[in-house]
Amino acid sequence: MSEPFTQSPPRLGDQWDDDAFLRDYLARVLPPEVRRDVEPDLAALGALSGGALYDLQLQDRLSEPRLTQWDAWGNRIDRIELTPLWQRAAHVAARHGLVAIPYEQRHGRWSRIHQFAAVYLFHPSSDLYTCPLAMTDGAARTLLGSRHVALIDRAVPLLASRDPERAWTSGQWMTEATGGSDVGTSTTRAVPLDDGTWHLYGKKWFTSAATSEMALALARPEGNGPGGSGLAVFYLETRNADGTPNGIRVERLKEKLGTRKLPTAELQLDGTVAYAVCGTDRGTRNIEPMLRITRAWNSVTAASFMRRAVALARAYAAERRAFGARLDALPLHQETLADLEVATRAATLLAFELVELMGRDEAGEIDDAQRALLRLVTPIAKLLTAKQAVAAVSEAIEAFGGAGYVEDTGLPTLLRDTQVLPIWEGTTNVLALDALLRTHAEAGLGAVQRRIAAAVEGAPPDLADAAAAAAAAAAHAAAWVRAAPDRRETQAGARRFAYTVGRALELALLIEHARWAEREGRRGSAVAAARRFARGRIDEMGDGGADEAESVLG
Ligand SMILES: Cc1cc2nc3c(=O)[nH]c(=O)nc-3n(C[C@H](O)[C@H](O)[C@H](O)COP(=O)(O)OP(=O)(O)OC[C@H]3O[C@@H](n4cnc5c(N)ncnc54)[C@H](O)[C@@H]3O)c2cc1C
Repeated sequence: MSEPFTQSPPRLGDQWDDDAFLRDYLARVLPPEVRRDVEPDLAALGALSGGALYDLQLQDRLSEPRLTQWDAWGNRIDRIELTPLWQRAAHVAARHGLVAIPYEQRHGRWSRIHQFAAVYLFHPSSDLYTCPLAMTDGAARTLLGSRHVALIDRAVPLLASRDPERAWTSGQWMTEATGGSDVGTSTTRAVPLDDGTWHLYGKKWFTSAATSEMALALARPEGNGPGGSGLAVFYLETRNADGTPNGIRVERLKEKLGTRKLPTAELQLDGTVAYAVCGTDRGTRNIEPMLRITRAWNSVTAASFMRRAVALARAYAAERRAFGARLDALPLHQETLADLEVATRAATLLAFELVELMGRDEAGEIDDAQRALLRLVTPIAKLLTAKQAVAAVSEAIEAFGGAGYVEDTGLPTLLRDTQVLPIWEGTTNVLALDALLRTHAEAGLGAVQRRIAAAVEGAPPDLADAAAAAAAAAAHAAAWVRAAPDRRETQAGARRFAYTVGRALELALLIEHARWAEREGRRGSAVAAARRFARGRIDEMGDGGADEAESVLG
């Protein structure tokens, strides 16, 4: 009698060794001495991410954070127990300096590239431990920008510590039940005390990483007017010196579609002692440095989820057989995998374009055009990579057939976790409006067009059409902005605008990479990737319109 058939699972290899695209990108952009210095660290993370951390993630699949609100004697304790992988991830993150690297500035403007390459490798095996890390990085940057010396001295060394026993994480407490996008409607009150501190009262509706030691929170000082300008940014520590909660009650942990290892809580603030970080108004503006950082983390982690999905789908295709052949030998399955690979590269290059600009900015090596580019690319990279990630991970799930839909493969978690990326840190629509209305789109577009021109200059002849398509799409978006449609049409077109600019830039970056690969004598894959991306949808500016949408909706 023949043995029953069992399918071998997809094998995830060392994520540094297996990611030739990441290594090529770093070889292209980093000076050789920086690269030599950072590669051992990245190689170690790649091995962990494809090895011990991934194994633990699969074993730990069913455990979730647990909230204990009361002790046996009736005291309110609100203790949250984290999952085993999260506890391990906290150590790995601190030891590898996932927040610390850009604050140590060992490699000047390349420090951010080093940090985010590490984040990219670590993220998909961390069960979203990158969420608190992103907010921690954002809090450190916001505090440093505030020039509030006492708070900087107190918190930044802990936020940027490499010592797992000392390292802090930070929350970002903005969203209330009244609105996360329209955060100016927040109702949390701040009451001043005689000693210069404040007491906060209100309810924060979504607070991820509720176990953080500190948070930056928005609240409205008594007497301030409505809207975002009437809010202020406050610093608070979640526990008093004796370990008791600082006027904070954890009402419950959210029951979420994904990100289930991440404790996201509803918090009641009832006399929480806090400090004003930078004045007592203009809160939504003053918290922007935090959002700029978390949006970069969102972009890189989107690309990283895509890479994980592709790595697993390709590994599976090398094992699974159908119609007498391995899946990876079937021409139409190859098409599917190639599209996924190209989308992943495009998203990676756009995310790291943002990272490069951030690094220049922080090292003081940025000019006005690059600053304008940074402002426009931040919302666009976040929104586009998040959407690309959801589409790519969903496609990758299908590449496993039924196995992709089965929980104990670990694959459904990947899709559920990815789905958060377009929602938090600004939804797609909100960021598209931000890109168009708040970031001086015209100046930014000039900078995008110049960046595209530089990226495609000297492109291989067989990419000339692709280069022209990138330039034409950006020019189309710029012409639309210059024509200044009325406010209704502008709002209706914001997504199309953001997608067009983002995809045009992605295409140009793929061409730039192909030009480099050609010089290195390995043009094949990079040129084919740019050509394939160019055949997809780049320019959406001519679509839709406010009247049409209204007609459809009746
Ligand atoms: C897992 C998870 C963790 C989170 N963690 C945190 C956290 O730690 N801290 C925190 O502060 N928040 C957190 N959030 C909240 C998150 O940032 C908000 O949910 C998000 O900003 C959207 O806000 P909202 O839920 O109020 O949706 P709404 O603002 O009500 O949006 C609903 C829909 O309307 C659209 N929309 C809104 N305004 C416009 C407009 N002007 N034009 C067109 N469309 C528009 C949006 O795009 C969206 O599709 C978390 C959310 C999740 C899911």
